[in-house]
Amino acid sequence: MIVRDATANPSTEPCRYCTATPAELDSQMALVTELAHSRVFLVRDQTHPGRCVVLLKRHARELFELAPDELTAFMAEVARVAQVVHRVSGCDKLNYAVYGDLSPHLHVHIVPKWQGGAAWGEAFVLKPAEGVFLAPEAFAQMLLNLKHGVEFE
Ligand SMILES: [Zn+2]
Repeated sequence: MIVRDATANPSTEPCRYCTATPAELDSQMALVTELAHSRVFLVRDQTHPGRCVVLLKRHARELFELAPDELTAFMAEVARVAQVVHRVSGCDKLNYAVYGDLSPHLHVHIVPKWQGGAAWGEAFVLKPAEGVFLAPEAFAQMLLNLKHGVEFE
């Protein structure tokens, strides 16, 4: 039997999501807004239009590391963002993914799916070989719609 400490960081590298500023993450994902427990980002690859990441503000690797109150509050923020992504994107279904193999800082992918569209009925591709990148104006409009929804709804 292999016994490992699930909370131990196997790497000596500092956590990127703890140290990077939104500007440093901007080529990968743009900051939508900041909530009490999380930061919300719109992923640059828009293969799934409206795809967001909700990143816990403090460092944790696993959901079970959060105290019950913090877990409830964080998941409520995930649900709040998901509701806005669902409305803004007009998708048929949202997928939620918590991976973190390569970036072990708790974050939830919120991925809109359309019946018959990309990866319908399957796991979405985290980093597609050929991503879909919107025109700057369209990306900015999506960002604004999400920001307005999350902050004012
Ligand atoms: Zn971290």
